Amino acid sequence: IYKVRYAPSPTGPLHIGGARTVLFDYLLAKQNNGIFLIRSEDTDLARSSAHWEDAILDSIEWLGLSWQEGLRVGGENGPYRQTERLHIYQQYLDKLFSEGHCYKCFCTEEEIEKERQIAYAKGETPKYSGKCRNLTPEQISELEQQGRKFVIRFKVPQGKIITVDDKVRGLVQFESDGIGDFVIVKSDGIPTYNFAVVIDDITMGITHVIRGDEHLSNTPRQILIYEALNAPLPVFGHVSIILNEQKKKMSKRDGDTSIDQYREKGYLPEAMINFLALLGWAPEGEKEFFTLDELVKEFSLERVSKNPAVFNLEKLRWMNSVYIKKMDIKDLTNRVKPFLKEHIPNIDEYDSSWLEFVVETYREKMTVLSDIVPLTADIFHDDIDFEDEKCREILQEDTVESVINLFKEKIIQAEELNYSKVEEILKSLTKELGLGGKKVFMPLRVALTGKTHGSELYSLIPILGKERVIKRVDYMMA
Ligand code: GLU
Repeated sequence: IYKVRYAPSPTGPLHIGGARTVLFDYLLAKQNNGIFLIRSEDTDLARSSAHWEDAILDSIEWLGLSWQEGLRVGGENGPYRQTERLHIYQQYLDKLFSEGHCYKCFCTEEEIEKERQIAYAKGETPKYSGKCRNLTPEQISELEQQGRKFVIRFKVPQGKIITVDDKVRGLVQFESDGIGDFVIVKSDGIPTYNFAVVIDDITMGITHVIRGDEHLSNTPRQILIYEALNAPLPVFGHVSIILNEQKKKMSKRDGDTSIDQYREKGYLPEAMINFLALLGWAPEGEKEFFTLDELVKEFSLERVSKNPAVFNLEKLRWMNSVYIKKMDIKDLTNRVKPFLKEHIPNIDEYDSSWLEFVVETYREKMTVLSDIVPLTADIFHDDIDFEDEKCREILQEDTVESVINLFKEKIIQAEELNYSKVEEILKSLTKELGLGGKKVFMPLRVALTGKTHGSELYSLIPILGKERVIKRVDYMMA
């Protein structure tokens, strides 16, 4: 049975890259009827917080992805936060110690730094010299008695080739001689990522480790720990980084990078999922639109590219607008409501079929859900005011009264007000009164909205309906 995990560090929101990783993890587990597990890597005590853990999980839930084991849902292999698993790491640490795979290192920061500088000066990549590898038990207990701080380092076997059989990148080889004895427990007793992650993956029975390729260089270290513990390796897959349109690593300066920013702007989770899936995964054939269920069927790690994916905001915007266009109108109306509610707190009191008509009227113009707010700025409140003095003057021109009177007459007579009916009425006004379009449209626009620009009248008038149209016009003309 497949068991796939996502193991975020709760040090910030869920970013685009993380979201893509969660999605791939989810798809792989789901398509194999496996288990998807989410846990937290919170050993960076200074930067981790419950707030970010919650925010990340909320974003994952918002995307519509569910998991069967781990945070929020529980399971047999908990706890699911690394800081709550220290007793478990201790057991494995004892084992590594008793089998001679690790040792206490008393080198100070300054000593390590000096080694590093010497390596840089020689043009070499620094690695720990192994100085404390051969301390005698007597030396160790003496240093301990002096109260000297220590870290615990893993003893990297020399002269070995470590091969990562990566489902995305193929075979990737590392020489163990390039890897210094690395720290597995810090001086405050907290394990490092490379150690804790392996113990978590072993004890939780993880079969597939799919993560960002910034972790590829950690993988040989992790493999050495698996080997020292005689534990079977999971399948590894490292997914390429995501670049901005300038082909540079995406950063905050490129605009929105976190999932909640997209959620707040009114992107649909369905569109986000579809877009994220295509960041690195190439479907067979030309198809571009996929529901989550379709992705579960069609996704494959073999078709995930080793090359960096390029984030294209225009494509996301386009996809989102397509999802908005084809979405069920009731569903769409419910999704725009929270955005409207910020400006119209009593939005729930409006007639729902009228609201649906409003949303239907404007959906063609929407790219993101929040676009509904400016699009409907003129429709909710009848107590409008002139935007400026110029607008007031427009209604004082001498042709205005005849325009308004004939307009009201025709509106009252009309059996049904819809886009084309209103178009017909307004065009007939110009003909019957012998006036240019501007002389008709400008005063009507001002009388209905108080402004000289904005809403398209053919859409606005049917939305307001006869009664409110007459009311507004009378009010502004009074
Ligand atoms: N905590 C790591 C991260 O946030 C994940 C490491 C892993 O998946 O092994 O990038």
